[in-house]
Amino acid sequence: MQVRITVSFPYEAPVSQSLFDRASVVTPGGVNSPVRAFRAVGGTPRFMVSGTGPYLTDADGREYVDLVCSWGPMILGHAHPEVIAAVQETVARGTSFGTPGAGEVELAEEIVARIEPVEQVRLVSSGTEATMSAIRLARGFTGRAKVIKFAGCYHGHVDALLAAAGSGVATFGLPDTPGVTGAQAGDTIVLPYNDLAAVRAAFAAHEGEIACVITEASPGNMGVVPPLPGFNQGLADLCSANGALYISDEVMTGFRVSKAGWYGIDGVRPDLMTFGKVMGGGFPAAAFGGRADVMAHLAPAGPVYQAGTLSGNPIATAAGVAQLRLLDDAAYAKVDAVSAEVRGLVTAALAKEGVAHRLQVAGNMFSVFFTEADVTDYETAKAQESFRFTAFFHSMLAQGVYLPPSAFESWFVSTMHDDAAIERIAAALPAAARAAAEATA
Ligand code: PLP
Repeated sequence: MQVRITVSFPYEAPVSQSLFDRASVVTPGGVNSPVRAFRAVGGTPRFMVSGTGPYLTDADGREYVDLVCSWGPMILGHAHPEVIAAVQETVARGTSFGTPGAGEVELAEEIVARIEPVEQVRLVSSGTEATMSAIRLARGFTGRAKVIKFAGCYHGHVDALLAAAGSGVATFGLPDTPGVTGAQAGDTIVLPYNDLAAVRAAFAAHEGEIACVITEASPGNMGVVPPLPGFNQGLADLCSANGALYISDEVMTGFRVSKAGWYGIDGVRPDLMTFGKVMGGGFPAAAFGGRADVMAHLAPAGPVYQAGTLSGNPIATAAGVAQLRLLDDAAYAKVDAVSAEVRGLVTAALAKEGVAHRLQVAGNMFSVFFTEADVTDYETAKAQESFRFTAFFHSMLAQGVYLPPSAFESWFVSTMHDDAAIERIAAALPAAARAAAEATA
């Protein structure tokens, strides 16, 4: 893929560059998750060494206001004292036992208490595992093979779900990925997002064959593209009318956009849900859960196998419980307010420079599309002038504001983004907006 770069960026990151050079020898592309490599925007990925509140510090000693928040999890900012204390207290007692532990019960109870459709939950270590296991369970429960997913929605790197996916797959413009066989993806039906008629037609064409529909509760992996009014309810209704399960992937939105995630905003009741990111407090913890009669099919209660050596790890669950307990109504009000303030600043700066853009919002998640047209699905998301984002991104980075290094990702804020952090963002925006205005393809 050709990367278009229309800005020159100062090489102010010699230590990051040397770490990246070393990493590139021993790790494919120098990173352990593709979007981190800056390939969509060019330049040297910053190797971070520490984080405090809304700030990250890189290996060269430069500080950034962080608008990525580890891709969502750090909703209380970095190194929140109470989360760190819970981790320290737990880690001193050992790191993994391979037995059940109290932390797992507490985290599961916390999730079940917050999200009414989740009657039972199983803990895993990544969002990918959560969606993979939920799909297996849906297939085992229904005895059916086919899965409907939507173009631009990302559900982790599950083989069957890597068809027309968002996130890194969107960033790199990959239609799908080598290594996924026809057999693995052959039962996946990919439909345009927000198109209920297409879902209706797929159910009619594959009567009795569809195990489940999986959708991001409100997509953030093609940029932020919320469901149109009635879309999620329409999916739930079509699933129930056709004996299929409705799986709402809340790995990104869960515990971020409200106490009960996107479910807390739209109230549409899924059969199964998946979670990750915020619930782990920055550690590898994720989950899937939902109807007790469906979850009862999971081993050892039922025949659908699923397991994990580090599932429910004591440190991850301690961090998750500590973080969730701090996330009360006041915390969400604060994150919502920060999000609104940053959005207002971004749109004002771009408007001042006459840059065509749309700011799309889902709760406190948001992203900027460099287009005037409506963005309701993957096709319209891809039609934006992403070369303007590249220029915008590098200007912000050079001024000490860390954005997601892709035009197809949500921006994230935290309770710790205070006036000082917001002022730094405000100070960087005029030059970044100018760079976006002047960028050429
Ligand atoms: N589902 C959604 C909606 C996601 O945003 C992600 C990751 O970004 C995943 C699943 C996969 O989670 P993980 O990266 O923890 O495997």
